[in-house]
Amino acid sequence: MDFSFDAAQSALHDAMRTLGSRALAAPPEERLDVLAAGGALGLSIAAAHGGGGHDLLTTAHAYEGLGSSLDDGGVLLAAGAHLFGVAMTIQKVGTDRQRATWLPELATGRCLGTVAATESGAGSDVGAVQSSVESTDDGVRLSGEKAYVTSAHRAGLFLFVGRHAGGRGLTVALVPSEHATAGEPWPTAGLRGAGLAPVVFDAPAMSAENVLGKPGAGMAVFQTAMTYERALVLAFRLGSMQRGLDEAVAHVRRRKSGGVAMAQHQAVQHRIARMKRRLETARLLVYRAAWQLDQGERATGEAALAKWHLAEAAMLSALDALQLRGASGYLDSSGIPAAIDDAIGGTIHSGTEDVLASIVARTLA
Ligand SMILES: Cc1cc2nc3c(=O)[nH]c(=O)nc-3n(C[C@H](O)[C@H](O)[C@H](O)COP(=O)(O)OP(=O)(O)OC[C@H]3O[C@@H](n4cnc5c(N)ncnc54)[C@H](O)[C@@H]3O)c2cc1C
Repeated sequence: MDFSFDAAQSALHDAMRTLGSRALAAPPEERLDVLAAGGALGLSIAAAHGGGGHDLLTTAHAYEGLGSSLDDGGVLLAAGAHLFGVAMTIQKVGTDRQRATWLPELATGRCLGTVAATESGAGSDVGAVQSSVESTDDGVRLSGEKAYVTSAHRAGLFLFVGRHAGGRGLTVALVPSEHATAGEPWPTAGLRGAGLAPVVFDAPAMSAENVLGKPGAGMAVFQTAMTYERALVLAFRLGSMQRGLDEAVAHVRRRKSGGVAMAQHQAVQHRIARMKRRLETARLLVYRAAWQLDQGERATGEAALAKWHLAEAAMLSALDALQLRGASGYLDSSGIPAAIDDAIGGTIHSGTEDVLASIVARTLA
C-alpha cells in the first residue's frame, strides 16, 4: 500500500477543495448542483459511462478536499450516498444494460441516487423490512414505506430493499422517482442538507430489468452498497477534521492563559495531540478500505472499521474543539455546535456503532 498521492491526485484534491468553496458560497439548496457541475458526483464512475474514472483511493482523497472547504455535512452525505451507495453498487453488480442506463445519468448528477432501505420498524435489522417485491408474469411489482431516506425529495433513483414474496429473501430494485412519493422532511439535529424524509413506494408494474442482482439475493447486494458507503461516505470528514484541528491549533497559539499561550499547557497539548491521532488513524483506515476495494477485495470488515472509527473520531474531536474554545465555542456562530450535531449523525447512518462493531467482530471470529 502506497498512500502518497501523485501530482494528478493532488491536483484533483485541490480542485475539489476549490469546488467545495464554490458550493459553500451557493445557497444551501443549490450546493448539490454545484458539486454535480464540478464532476464530484461521478468521480469514481467509469469514464466509459461518463464519470471521472478515478479509483476509490483517489476519490477518497478528493472528497477529503471537498470536506476541507464545504462545511455542509448533509450535502456531502447526500453526495456520498449517491456515488458510493448507489452508483458504485450499480457499477459493481449491475448488468451491462443497467450500467448503460443509469451510470451516465448518475455521473453528471442529472439523476441523484439514494438508498431506501430503512423502515420505521427495521433499521439495523434490514432483514426485517416489510416492503414487498413480487414477481409478475413480465416483471416485478413493489410497494412499501421507507424512513429516514437521504435526499428523499431530490432523488431520481432509489436503491430499494424489499422482501420478495414467497419467502425468497430480500430483493433490491432500482426504482425511478415516478414510483416514489416523499413525505414531509424531518427536522433533524444536524445534517439538514441531507433532507431526511419518509418515502412511500408504489410500483405496480416494473420491468425485471429494475432488479439489481438476482431476485432473493438482495441482502448481498445491500451489503455491497453498505461496504462502499462505509468505506467512503465519511471521507469528506477527514477534510473537516483537518480544518477543525488547524483552527484549534491557531486558537490555542493565539489565546493566553496564565501569562502564556494556551498551547504551552500540557493538558491543552494533549487534547490537540488526541485530535491529531484520531484524524491520522481515521485517514489511514479510510485509505486502506478504499485501496482494498480498488484491488477487488471484499473489505467488509475494513470498511466497517473505517466508518466506525471515523464517525467516532469526528464526534470526539468536535467535542474537543469546543472545549478548547470555551464559551466562544459554544456559540452557534463558532460553527462547532453544528459540527457536533453533524458528527453525531455520522455515527448512525450506514450502520450504527454497535452494528459496525459486530461486523468487525464477525470478521475475527
Ligand atoms: C443522517 C442519517 C441519514 C440516513 N440516511 C438513510 C438513507 O439514505 N437510507 C436509509 O435507508 N436509511 C437511512 N438512515 C437510517 C439509518 O440507516 C438507520 O437509522 C440505522 O440503520 C439505524 O436504524 P434505526 O434508526 O432503526 O435504529 P435501531 O436499529 O432501532 O437501533 C437502535 C439502537 O439499537 C442498537 N442495535 C440495534 N440492533 C442491534 C444489533 N443487532 N446489535 C447491536 N446493537 C443493535 C443500535 O446500535 C442503536 O444503538 C439514515 C439515518 C441518519 C441518522
